[in-house]
Amino acid sequence: MFIRIDHIGVAVKDLDAAIKLYERSFEMELVHRETVESQGVEAVLLDVGEGHVELLMPLSDDTPVGKFIAKKGEGIHHVAYSVDDIDAALVEAEANGMKMIDKEARTGIRGSRVAFAHPAATGSVLTEIVEPSKETH
Ligand code: ZN
Repeated sequence: MFIRIDHIGVAVKDLDAAIKLYERSFEMELVHRETVESQGVEAVLLDVGEGHVELLMPLSDDTPVGKFIAKKGEGIHHVAYSVDDIDAALVEAEANGMKMIDKEARTGIRGSRVAFAHPAATGSVLTEIVEPSKETH
């Protein structure tokens, strides 16, 4: 059901410092920046071939990413797999017994539709399913 890895999400405290690190050290191109209120983050995407690194800075300490950093520190936050049709993927995942945080897709970064699986059901790996916006691909 997954096509490829869409992005790796990385939790950071200082977004601009993290962008500089990835741009300068790894020559990755910043392609998108957005405040995603529904997820409580300011986020950017940097291109790696067809995939991305998504840097996430929490808008406050009581957001999911803010709590993650308080508990575990900065670092890899989630893995996102892309699908063609997230509605179909969610039906399949449920049929496969996967416990999802999101029963229905919600709006993610850059007009994508996303849903998260429960880390308790995925060996502590927060897993995102993403249907990228058709306009950006
Ligand atoms: Zn993500």
